Amino acid sequence: MAGTLLDRALVWAMPAVPKAVVQPLSRRYIAGPELSDAIETIRSLGERGRSATVDVLGEQLTTRSQIEALAGEYRRALDAFAREQLDATLSVKMTGLGLALDPALCTENVRNLVAAARDHSLTVELDMEDSTTTTATVDLYRSLREGGFDNVVVALQAYLRRTLEDVRSLAPLKPRVRLVKGIWIEPISVAYTDYETIRGNYARLLDELLGSGGFVAIASHDEWIHWRALELIDRRGLKPDAYEFQMLLGVREHLGDSLVRDGHGVRVYVPYGVDWHAYSVRRFQENPQLAHHVFADVLGRARRRGPA
Ligand SMILES: Cc1cc2nc3c(=O)[nH]c(=O)nc-3n(C[C@H](O)[C@H](O)[C@H](O)COP(=O)(O)OP(=O)(O)OC[C@H]3O[C@@H](n4cnc5c(N)ncnc54)[C@H](O)[C@@H]3O)c2cc1C
Repeated sequence: MAGTLLDRALVWAMPAVPKAVVQPLSRRYIAGPELSDAIETIRSLGERGRSATVDVLGEQLTTRSQIEALAGEYRRALDAFAREQLDATLSVKMTGLGLALDPALCTENVRNLVAAARDHSLTVELDMEDSTTTTATVDLYRSLREGGFDNVVVALQAYLRRTLEDVRSLAPLKPRVRLVKGIWIEPISVAYTDYETIRGNYARLLDELLGSGGFVAIASHDEWIHWRALELIDRRGLKPDAYEFQMLLGVREHLGDSLVRDGHGVRVYVPYGVDWHAYSVRRFQENPQLAHHVFADVLGRARRRGPA
């Protein structure tokens, strides 16, 4: 993310902002607390020519009962997509399904969801979390594909130094990949930190992925990335079934309008649930204007309260 020193300071301080300040602003990024809110959002996106990928909010879960509850909610969402005939995939987080507590339980949970999705002709997307989870996520994706599951997509991050190697090692599987820049704060030993370097690496990875004969979800709101992707798609003469664009709910919707108008697939990431805080903080960290707004509100409240 490009930005001033002040922006960077705000990004670092954001997790400390009181929830009461964050919640009203987070509404633009989240469908609502219930599955029915997500369904309504998917329908209204459909009216505007977009499909959806749905995220049940919840990550870094550490007890079996929390993990079971989230797995159950994922399952309920899949059943609803099938019953209501919605054009939606399910996005899942491995730390929500038990990665930190018991990796074998996590594998079983993901496999069960992918199998259930396949029964409904639906797809599961594996979100990518911080770099301590990358190997487990890529390995699980590989084993699912080798086990005959084609209805699974994995997110890969352009800021990670290892991703070119991951892309090349997955190439024989004709991978289905969501390519993102990457949102977690990572040490320079594992991730590029310079904005233009990350962009350049994104373009390089995209070129390799579009040439692999798989499927690529170009997940970005960066107009330069869109332009570069469209150029590569045109040069390779790819048909719309080889790629799609993905965007987050509430972010730069006008860019999606132009893509839809020009006949490209656009899928929107739709989070729902009560566990909204960590997701919202990450969205504010990408949006300096909103971050300034949040901190102005915090300062305003402090002034109104007066000195302690
Ligand atoms: C569908 C989707 C799925 C994703 N899944 C993952 C994942 O699994 N793992 C992961 O690490 N990351 C994921 N991300 C986040 C991603 O890694 C980036 O952090 C995020 O997309 C911002 O990068 P950008 O390419 O949009 O470019 P940027 O250069 O960050 O943004 C381009 C422009 O969009 C604006 N913008 C970006 N975000 C916002 C926002 N929240 N609010 C308002 N304006 C904004 C910026 O201000 C800028 O003007 C996902 C992103 C998308 C779109």
